[in-house]
Amino acid sequence: MVLSAELEHGSFAPESVASEVWGLTRGEARQRADTYQRYHIEALPTEEKWKIPRRFNVKVGKFGLAKMIFKEFFQYFGHWETVFSRPCTYGVFSGPIGGFSPRPDLCVGCLRCEVQHPDFVTVTPNGELRALGDKYLTYQHIYTIDQEAMRGTVPVRGQGYRGRFGGPGFDGMFTDMSEIVRPSRDGIHGRELIGTSVDIGAKPMHLEFDTEGNITNPPTTFTIQLPFIFDAPPTTLESDAVARIYVEAAEQVDTLAILPAKSIERLGLAGPNVVPIVTCSGCSVGPGTRMVELATWNHETYAHFAAQGYAVGVRLEMTGEWLSTLLEMQSAGVTIFHLLSDHHGRSGDGRFLIETLKEAHMALVEKGVRDEVTLLGSGGIAGADNLPKGIISGLDAVGLDHVLLIAMQARLSGDMQSRDTVTVQLPKKLDEAWAVQRLVNLSCSWRDQMLEILGAMGVREVRRLRGEFGRSMMCSELEAEAFGEIEGFPGGGR
Ligand code: SF4
Repeated sequence: MVLSAELEHGSFAPESVASEVWGLTRGEARQRADTYQRYHIEALPTEEKWKIPRRFNVKVGKFGLAKMIFKEFFQYFGHWETVFSRPCTYGVFSGPIGGFSPRPDLCVGCLRCEVQHPDFVTVTPNGELRALGDKYLTYQHIYTIDQEAMRGTVPVRGQGYRGRFGGPGFDGMFTDMSEIVRPSRDGIHGRELIGTSVDIGAKPMHLEFDTEGNITNPPTTFTIQLPFIFDAPPTTLESDAVARIYVEAAEQVDTLAILPAKSIERLGLAGPNVVPIVTCSGCSVGPGTRMVELATWNHETYAHFAAQGYAVGVRLEMTGEWLSTLLEMQSAGVTIFHLLSDHHGRSGDGRFLIETLKEAHMALVEKGVRDEVTLLGSGGIAGADNLPKGIISGLDAVGLDHVLLIAMQARLSGDMQSRDTVTVQLPKKLDEAWAVQRLVNLSCSWRDQMLEILGAMGVREVRRLRGEFGRSMMCSELEAEAFGEIEGFPGGGR
């Protein structure tokens, strides 16, 4: 399932070229070409372990239904198919006792029944579902994530987009899909490649060679196949099972699972796809580790791990003077920054991610070092559409946190905005293999949705989307441009 970056970028050169360039015989070149496999995530349907509340409640007046059946019996006598049909193509009224015991779990809310029989059918939203989540990570997000994790597909309801156009947070950003050019659909259906892999680590802006012609400053990056990583679960959730699930899923889809170093050591989870969060200055990490993250900036700890050849990231909460700390760290040699907002995407001064990430990205651009460093960001990711918008805002890869727990059908309650305050209730007797598949499915669905966006924008790989503000539009700016002169518009009528 997991292929190297080299494989993702393919090696379908003609055999004669392969012979010349790589010094391979025709047979070897053929053999190598035959081993080519495009990166692919194997999504498998998973059943629900802790059923999410249904979307609608359906109430049927028994007297009204009996009256309708009685009337139709005489009206359509002999046309039994008509007599036995019910006003719902989704089977809500098709139970063994002909709709007297409806099955509201099947209701999709099309309202045909209520429009046709307002006298005895009522369809209402289910308050139990609406109580899930909070005002940022809403019940709609939770419902969608649950569907994505269950099937691994792109959720399509056939009703078009029913959300709002414009709004707070990421809803205030539109992506420019006017360039419908290749790779567009070809990239989505696999005839061409749209790359979703990203590089983590330090890249030199130019290569330097010694007198022998050897490169003296090779890039120290490594590649993961997805532009998102699994960030550590909240400290309020102490679960070895969750740590194992994150690691197994991250290995399967070839991304990174960030976890506390102590859990990794205790559970023996170290490996190339696992990133320990370290707090000690002289400690060591397990075999196979490629990258570590410092819980907070500390020059000595950074130097300790950097000297051992690890890619070293630093977690940085976007509070106080975070931007100057970031630039200070960059000057000290740090090349991977993991920016943390709260779970509503807000920094300490209340600004949203689009603004703060852009600020970090532009500060590094102005310093002339943006391409030398990697920006990761966690907090405020509630849906698949947030990924490209986070990357347009300046991130190289996006950290997923609460959404991973929701994909495993965990129920979150309490303060869901601040870091490490949420109360998490996992499904009883959590089946680890089942939970791994749910995360793999979510990854597959979110990657496919990323491909949809990249295809629609005519962008060939996700790396080229980073900081592409020019391919996005802000609702507030468009409105100000259109209505700014009109009296009554905030700041208008000038
Ligand atoms: S709203 Fe639509 S799906 Fe739901 S019960 Fe009525 S007809 Fe069936």
